[in-house]
Amino acid sequence: MPFIITDPCIGTKDTACVDVCPVDCIHPRKDEPEFESMTMLYIHPEECIDCGACVPACPVTAIYDSTDSTPSSQKGLIEANAVYRNGDADAMAKAEAIVKAHVDSHQELMAVPPAERQAAHT
Ligand code: SF4
Ligand code: SF4
Repeated sequence: MPFIITDPCIGTKDTACVDVCPVDCIHPRKDEPEFESMTMLYIHPEECIDCGACVPACPVTAIYDSTDSTPSSQKGLIEANAVYRNGDADAMAKAEAIVKAHVDSHQELMAVPPAERQAAHT
């Protein structure tokens, strides 16, 4: 079961998780050209080794430890994590389209500050 980044990352995107991931499966990193244009970061589901290091590193508790534990309001973002591939324009556009749809359909949640957003997940 891969770990999943969800919407508190939007508006935070500080890459603390990247710094602790032992297998470099969270992208884009700050030193990658995609970083500025991506709305959030994504975990590659096949490269993640389920070590759990990223969860306590995230200042806004954006990361869930499995698809099953991801709240229903965040389920759409599982697919965004899954399709994102750094440097692949089509894959990046698909992931970002999913994120945009999530933002558009969860306006009340997105109005909550990122640090408090996870507590508002349903
Ligand atoms: S669980 Fe471990 S391997 Fe997976 S994204 Fe987090 S830090 Fe990286
Ligand atoms: S640590 Fe959390 S907020 Fe920061 S980039 Fe990673 S998932 Fe996003």
